[in-house]
Amino acid sequence: TARASGLGSWAIYHPEMAETDRYRKWIETELGQAIGKNEFELVYQPQVDTTNGETVGYEALLRWEHREKGAIPPAEFITVAEKCGLINQIGSWVLRQACVDARYFTSGEKIAVNVSPKQMEQDDFVDTLAAILRAQAVDPARIEIEITENVLIHDQRKIREQFEQIRALGCSIAIDDFGTGYSNLNYLSDLPFSKLKLDQSFVSRIEDRKNGGALVSTIVNLARALDVDVLAEGVETENQMVMLNAAGCTLMQGYYFGKPVALQRQQTLAA
Ligand code: C2E
Ligand code: MG
Ligand code: MG
Ligand code: MG
Repeated sequence: TARASGLGSWAIYHPEMAETDRYRKWIETELGQAIGKNEFELVYQPQVDTTNGETVGYEALLRWEHREKGAIPPAEFITVAEKCGLINQIGSWVLRQACVDARYFTSGEKIAVNVSPKQMEQDDFVDTLAAILRAQAVDPARIEIEITENVLIHDQRKIREQFEQIRALGCSIAIDDFGTGYSNLNYLSDLPFSKLKLDQSFVSRIEDRKNGGALVSTIVNLARALDVDVLAEGVETENQMVMLNAAGCTLMQGYYFGKPVALQRQQTLAA
């Protein structure tokens, strides 16, 4: 029960719990055991080229099924993991599992893996990535590292160095949630990434906002100028797809094409 697991009197989940120190402490403690207790799983969501309907990649998304409390969304535990340092251990698990899973996508689709800025800041991040790729014998070209736009406010010299080394390994890099954070376009244009992921807030407002389409075309043009791809996130309706196409965006991901689903895998990593 919730009481037995240290949640005290919170037998029922309340959104405001996410805000409390106590809940954060609880998450921190439980997160430390989640890998060993086999509570993590990756689910995969298709990324579609709408010009031909082909699935060109899958984004790996982390799911935590707590043995008593049930599903806890990444929005609640990733920030905690970043604050307490567990993100490195969790992030390595994610990378390793995604590499194990890559072989089950038999058409050679790219696997996009979310990496926290905190994780990428670690001096040994690239070495860890390289070691995992080697151990799992995965072609680095199949792995795309997704990193949020917010990474750009971190140590810029360090981030550029990491980007270059990731690229040198043969992996590609996508800037996630683009358009929601602080971006120094000057600096962005010098970084070796190959995709902008247009944040879903642009997609959800493309129909009702007068300049919604124009905003998207502006970002599409920016991507062209930078010579990178642009993929729209959170596409839920056919009309959104049509409007995105009209704005020049052809790569998409969202419930309209498919929800994130678990693999029927034969192998899940132990601790
Ligand atoms: P994100 O990387 O931007 O992932 C997209 C989020 O949008 C996912 O939420 C996905 O399930 C959701 N989504 C996909 N299609 C639709 C749609 O059509 N409509 C709506 N409303 N939502 C859609 P999720 O899985 O809850 O993940 C939330 C965030 O948590 C991710 O945002 C990412 O920042 C972070 N995250 C997830 N897995 C990992 C991970 O393995 N490592 C790290 N560091 N962060 C992760
Ligand atoms: Mg992502
Ligand atoms: Mg995103
Ligand atoms: Mg996001």
